Amino acid sequence: MSEQLDLLIIGAGPAGISAADVSAREGLNYLVVEKGLIADTVYHYPIGLTVFSTPNELAMREGALKPCREKPTREELLSHYVHFVLENNLRVQTEEEVVEVGRTESGEFLVQTSRGRYRAARILFAIGAMSRPRRLNVPGEILGKVHHRFVEPFPYVRKNALVVGGGNSAAEAALFLSEGGAQTSLAIWRTDWENRDLKRGAIKQWVREPLQKQIERGALRVILFKEVEEITEKSVRLKTEDDETLTLPNDAVFILIGSDADLTLLRKLGVETVHTGLCDVPVYDPETFETNISGIYVAGHFTNSRHIKEAIAIPRRIVPLIAQSLRAAV
Ligand SMILES: Cc1cc2nc3c(=O)[nH]c(=O)nc-3n(C[C@H](O)[C@H](O)[C@H](O)COP(=O)(O)OP(=O)(O)OC[C@H]3O[C@@H](n4cnc5c(N)ncnc54)[C@H](O)[C@@H]3O)c2cc1C
Repeated sequence: MSEQLDLLIIGAGPAGISAADVSAREGLNYLVVEKGLIADTVYHYPIGLTVFSTPNELAMREGALKPCREKPTREELLSHYVHFVLENNLRVQTEEEVVEVGRTESGEFLVQTSRGRYRAARILFAIGAMSRPRRLNVPGEILGKVHHRFVEPFPYVRKNALVVGGGNSAAEAALFLSEGGAQTSLAIWRTDWENRDLKRGAIKQWVREPLQKQIERGALRVILFKEVEEITEKSVRLKTEDDETLTLPNDAVFILIGSDADLTLLRKLGVETVHTGLCDVPVYDPETFETNISGIYVAGHFTNSRHIKEAIAIPRRIVPLIAQSLRAAV
């Protein structure tokens, strides 16, 4: 027999944890199903990273996140979210992936996970936007030395590392690598290198300044490029902005050009999506965050409210509305 729930929440990032917290307070029979670990996206930030948001934007309760310095590290933030779940005894099941969502004739949802089946009156997708790292789709990208996430610099000391990308994550990885002792190159498109508009993903000032120092020290080379042509075991061939071919000796490549949400489950349910900027976003009511499929809600990084502050705030607004709609349906 599958368990009967009021609300099934998919994903235990800041949005899913916040939704669980409000669900508990509303007295809902809820469950969070998470394919990785609690706050899995934060867990996958580079080790030792200092995040850019301030504690008040990231904390699950005002004043509860107390970093040693002005802004928390990955480790302080992760510990905050994990302890919030533990201390509030929130119902979060980790390492369980939602693989299918269907609907019965009576209108309730049937959820198949990698471990079990559930029936739920409402579903909140809080799945984030990290499921599909973007690829260059160039020859050699499948080699073991090519990574689409950066974790730490230590395995690359005195090795030739190339970072490809134009945003803050790429710039931060290049900084970590060059400061950590790797011979580092950053291949970046001119528009990204010259971009100073933070709203359009420009490199943050506190990353750019030390990056500039690494360039001056000769520890980091910035290559304005058009395309990566081929990655081989020992080198990378690039076409520069001036149409020159450049072959770099290489031991490791980090392709950090963003990632996308996996919208497959939503689309199978009939949820409409729209292309905005670089990615597809589900269509939803801006007040309730309910999609065009009644009973299916969205929150967090794969909606238009992307930052952690909003990922926490939106569930506080919409879960009471979900609870209200459930009480009205009885
Ligand atoms: C290096 C880095 C630094 C960042 N720094 C900041 C910062 O300083 N401030 C800020 O506001 N934002 C920052 N961000 C962005 C921030 O991480 C996201 O905005 C935030 O994680 C969004 O929370 P979320 O709950 O919407 O999604 P996520 O935290 O991505 O959580 C979604 C969860 O859903 C799970 N999931 C997905 N599909 C399924 C499925 N089918 N079944 C079960 N589980 C599933 C995922 O495993 C994941 O744990 C940073 C991002 C990166 C990469």
